[in-house]
Amino acid sequence: MPMKEPTAPRPPETADLIVAHAYLVTMDPERRVFSDGAVAIRGRRIVGVGASAEILSEFTAPRVLDARGGVVHPGFVECHTHVTYHLARGAFGDTISYAELGPTTELDFVNALTDEDEYASTLLACWEMISNGATCFVEAGTAYSPDAVAEAAQTLGMRGLVGDPFLWDAEDTPGGFNAYRLERAPADTDRCMRLLGGQLHRNSDPDALVRGHIAIAGMGTATDELERAAKAAADSAGVILNQHQSYYAVDAGTDDRRHGQLALLHLDEIGLLDRNCLFAHVNVIRDPEVDPLLSSGLSIAWCPAGSMLWGVGGTFRGRHAELYRRGMNIALGSDSANWANRFDLGLQAYLAVLSARETSGTRTILTAEDALTMATLNGARAAGLEHEIGSLEIGKRADLVIRRNDVPEAFPLTDPVLQLVYSTGSKTVNTVLIDGRIVLEDRVPTGMDPDRILETTQSATGRVFRQMGFTYEPRWKPLN
Ligand SMILES: [Zn+2]
Repeated sequence: MPMKEPTAPRPPETADLIVAHAYLVTMDPERRVFSDGAVAIRGRRIVGVGASAEILSEFTAPRVLDARGGVVHPGFVECHTHVTYHLARGAFGDTISYAELGPTTELDFVNALTDEDEYASTLLACWEMISNGATCFVEAGTAYSPDAVAEAAQTLGMRGLVGDPFLWDAEDTPGGFNAYRLERAPADTDRCMRLLGGQLHRNSDPDALVRGHIAIAGMGTATDELERAAKAAADSAGVILNQHQSYYAVDAGTDDRRHGQLALLHLDEIGLLDRNCLFAHVNVIRDPEVDPLLSSGLSIAWCPAGSMLWGVGGTFRGRHAELYRRGMNIALGSDSANWANRFDLGLQAYLAVLSARETSGTRTILTAEDALTMATLNGARAAGLEHEIGSLEIGKRADLVIRRNDVPEAFPLTDPVLQLVYSTGSKTVNTVLIDGRIVLEDRVPTGMDPDRILETTQSATGRVFRQMGFTYEPRWKPLN
């Protein structure tokens, strides 16, 4: 019997970095999980995913990060954020109604913001998002200076989408958002048409960390002319159109009256319910609006805390879990620091599961695995980046989170996916990579000294409050 020629072992390929010995949750189409898994990264992208033994024999790299059994998963995608409102966190509006807040304090706050303040706010917001396991955010189109937002995000290595500032042109429509009267951004069709698409130039660099998309404020503030122009701009540029919609009954009712039909039915009629559209909130959904939503391919950024902290009722009126179960692309968002307070997508995912179970009276309506799907894959698709991010697969961007498992909430070691959502939350986020670069290492941001971020944001907040003539008064006043 002839001897079989031994096959020569293939020389290992080079990589720049290997993350090994992880409880690896890939979120790939087969939802593969490895209890001892590894990811090889070259440049900005993933070049190998599999069992640690395999990856470590197939690749060599100058640096190997040992995850020590901690969970590694794709970075979360924050699909609805106002990153420039962080300076107002916790400062006003805890117990007053939105109607009281809208025309007064918050308007003064937004009017007082300078580009430097927006830069400072975005630094804090990005640090917070990264620390909580998010690697990409979609800005809501409410920054005066998308350049300032982009600069801050790039400084910390955060991926993001920015839009043009405050595109709105339907004045005097009761419903909240339009209560803002911004000196720098009046409701005006001509202004919107001039600005529309102004951020798309960023997309000429295929490796741009911060990209442009089309954002309009929405929520009763756009004429059909603006809605249609925004959709056409998004279509021709191959990007998403992002807007607020049906946050609460008042703005949905305003749209109903303006159009003489239910808000979402009208938006469907003018072509706005489409696969490249992302609506934030959608807490109000009436029965006739369900089928058009389901057949549209539209994505919704569900913001549970953005509703719950203000008692809006989105968790029991919104039907997000039902739509998710029926195949709709439901993603998640933290909204804003003056609304939801925390930019913690893991927390939003937890609240989504809990509120859906409470409302439906069943534990099967949403699971921990559903929560992770909404936070990763669905977020990537909502942002129009499903071919780049959202899962750990060869060819995709190396945007991933390395968690530790040496905290009490991670023990006993049973099902790390369930524990991630239900018990550890974000406190196990340890090291984060975006585009192949380590942006958080042992919980410390690598792009800027954290003390400098804190000083910058605190002094910006002081300036804004002085400009507003606003002094914060705690309900429990300190004695000294
Ligand atoms: Zn919003």
